[in-house]
Amino acid sequence: MGIVLLGPPGSGKGTQGPLLAERLGVRHLSTGLLLRDAASSGTDLGRKIAPYLDRGELAPDDLTMAVVEPAVAAARAEGGYVLDGFPRTLDQASHLPEDDIAVHLDLPDDVARVRLAERDEGRSDDDDPAVIDHRLRVYHERTAPLLELYGSRARLITVDADQPAEAVAGAIAAALEARS
Ligand code: AMP
Repeated sequence: MGIVLLGPPGSGKGTQGPLLAERLGVRHLSTGLLLRDAASSGTDLGRKIAPYLDRGELAPDDLTMAVVEPAVAAARAEGGYVLDGFPRTLDQASHLPEDDIAVHLDLPDDVARVRLAERDEGRSDDDDPAVIDHRLRVYHERTAPLLELYGSRARLITVDADQPAEAVAGAIAAALEARS
């Protein structure tokens, strides 16, 4: 069971990921969290990653894979995963099985901007409107093409993320059930 969550920053990946993973009995992995932990760990790898996070840039694929791949492999060995924040590029997607299902949390940019400006998770990359705008741009340029990839494999579910979290969770569950 492999599920990847796609959607702009603020679309609810961090809320839906754990809910969905619990429902399916698999691991939830947030690559933002893994990378932030790595960045604050003071290792060489972490020091290389930190500046990208601060600027709202994607960490380079090779550095990202060095952090994420062991966690993904461990989750896979235990029966599956819900990935939140990965893949974010076509190259990253090529490291995952082709039968993984992508759940697209669809949210307009203006709603995402308001959510990110309002949330208070102590994240420096949520504080600056210019960094928020940049993350949205990066999403459309680098990550949105993955919607086409998973769609072309008939492995894409799109849900309206502009609803309360419980309604989004219900829509995801219903869409997954309809496939099985
Ligand atoms: P997130 O918590 O998912 O919003 O991710 C926060 C930040 O972590 C992003 O703005 C990127 O700098 C970095 N990041 C998270 N996931 C990835 C990824 N798959 N590839 C590259 N950078 C990532």
